[in-house]
Amino acid sequence: MEKPKAVETIKKLAADPSAYLKSWKGKPGRKILGYFCTNTPEEMIQAAGFLPVRILSSRDTISLASRHLQSYSCSLVQSSLESALRGELSYLDGTVFPHTCDSIQRLSDIWAENLHFAFHWDLGLPVKLHTESAKTYLIAELRRFRRGLEEFIGRAVSDDDLRGAILLFNENRRLLKEVAGLQSENPGRIPPSDLYAIIKTANFLPKDEHNPLLGELISQLGEGRPSPFSGPRLFLAGSVCDQPQIYALMESCGASLVGDDLCTGWRYFADDASPEGDPIGALADRLIRKVPCPCKFNPGIDRATRLLERVKVSGAQGVIFLLLKFCDPHAFDYPYLKEKFDEENIPSLLLEIESGGLPLGAMETRLRAFIETLESGK
Ligand code: SF4
Ligand code: SF4
Repeated sequence: MEKPKAVETIKKLAADPSAYLKSWKGKPGRKILGYFCTNTPEEMIQAAGFLPVRILSSRDTISLASRHLQSYSCSLVQSSLESALRGELSYLDGTVFPHTCDSIQRLSDIWAENLHFAFHWDLGLPVKLHTESAKTYLIAELRRFRRGLEEFIGRAVSDDDLRGAILLFNENRRLLKEVAGLQSENPGRIPPSDLYAIIKTANFLPKDEHNPLLGELISQLGEGRPSPFSGPRLFLAGSVCDQPQIYALMESCGASLVGDDLCTGWRYFADDASPEGDPIGALADRLIRKVPCPCKFNPGIDRATRLLERVKVSGAQGVIFLLLKFCDPHAFDYPYLKEKFDEENIPSLLLEIESGGLPLGAMETRLRAFIETLESGK
């Protein structure tokens, strides 16, 4: 039988992460730590012998979580708590909560109180990233995290363990950047749904499994010359998008995704950590250098300027802002970003999304109307 193409394997895995993780965990000695947010140093979790898995949950019905959360919590938080309370994350040995938005911080307390995973960690990241004291504090927090993990596993996590993890993750980021480069070179090469699956699998597959799959995918993408793409070229901006339906919608409208600024996308793999020198310092540097989302403040890196640059380089005709319902940090940021895009005459559309129950019909009407506007301005 012919071996399935890498993209087919990736799509199959992305369709059911839970089944994969339960079976992966079935082998003796394997441990999984869940985490929220791309500001978590996954390399540290890896170096301590765990598989780091990003918690992203999309549910249509929230019932158990509504006993603990206000109905105006963002749907990522509601949905994740619901999944955990229903026992669907039973493969986790613990969870890491980085200091980001208020919702994640309060979720950490509720999680610790009502769920009893063996390991629970609050990682105190600074909000202001540009000061010397922020870096000192961040390094101290990362060292405290390492000690917490060491206590839990009963062995030391050496600098060499950390350097090994940094190299492994840098390789994954390099491959993901290569895929993104191939995509923007010819947007018809990878349909948006495939792109979703590629990034989705990066969030839970062990890197030593994901990296060879990506290598195989890249070599298969290089086979033959895809026909030039003439449909609308769109760029996605926002926070988290774990809804494959959005990508499928773009595809059914004939659009292509030429770039994104999501933390379930480009912002996950954009920045490397140095494998040289003190690995804790390198992890801290990476977190400081990252383009900040609205939960962090770094006056040296203006998000709007970076975003505009990336949109222009991608050749996108328009930008879709995906705003997760009740995500206050991004809702506060949106008017400023929109103004910057208006000043540059770059068309944009705001779509509010939720974890479950997306109003796909209404979204499709708005997306098609937006695409028509873009095409009429060609
Ligand atoms: S938007 Fe910011 S705080 Fe929220 S998950 Fe992404 S990186 Fe973390
Ligand atoms: S989506 Fe927004 S509100 Fe929800 S956890 Fe991320 S930053 Fe916080």
